[in-house]
Amino acid sequence: MSQHHHRLSGSTRQKRNAKILKASDICGLCGQPGSDAVDHKVPITRGGTEHPSNLQPVHHDVAPFCNRRKGDLLPAEYDRKVMLVVGPPGAGKTTLAHTIADAEGLEVYDLDDEQWAGSDALFRAALVQLREQPKARAVVIRTGATLRARQGAATACGATELVVVDTALDECIRRIKQRGRTTPPIRIQINGARQWWAKYEPGEVKLSFASLRLQRSGSLA
Ligand SMILES: [Zn+2]
Repeated sequence: MSQHHHRLSGSTRQKRNAKILKASDICGLCGQPGSDAVDHKVPITRGGTEHPSNLQPVHHDVAPFCNRRKGDLLPAEYDRKVMLVVGPPGAGKTTLAHTIADAEGLEVYDLDDEQWAGSDALFRAALVQLREQPKARAVVIRTGATLRARQGAATACGATELVVVDTALDECIRRIKQRGRTTPPIRIQINGARQWWAKYEPGEVKLSFASLRLQRSGSLA
């Protein structure tokens, strides 16, 4: 144990970090692959050591920049859960988001909520604030049909989890008609669901996302 209190030379540290990242690039803070750096779980400045059990791969200079947000916080001080829920109109995103939010005490961020007055700019600004909070606990709803859109949305809010609600088009249309929400007009909502499915790119893993994929279940209908 005592050897881990020694200061490491730069090259020793580099080699050690390269070895850790080669073994796994799964970020210890968000659970996604693509880590580019090695973090001390308990920071050296707060009594942490160089012992392997105190080291973890993290995103530092690459999105979603988890380690920059963590800074010198202790693990218990970095208690973040930001779940990004995406899917077509009518998929059941809102129902799912509120179910999870109620169960886990999370705040729901939905562009459709009145407080944003339909302004994507206001909503995006709120997401930036969310991204900077080490202890944020929230569910964020976006459409995210393409990999790029999902990556952008996840980076914007510093998401730690992603849920794709890929309810089949017929079912989305049925739900849109059934729920009878008229803003935006039903025709536009149905069109949105069609477009989402036309543009949809599956494949979170290729995009470096640990994806939690939920199929529609009876309880969401
Ligand atoms: Zn990360």
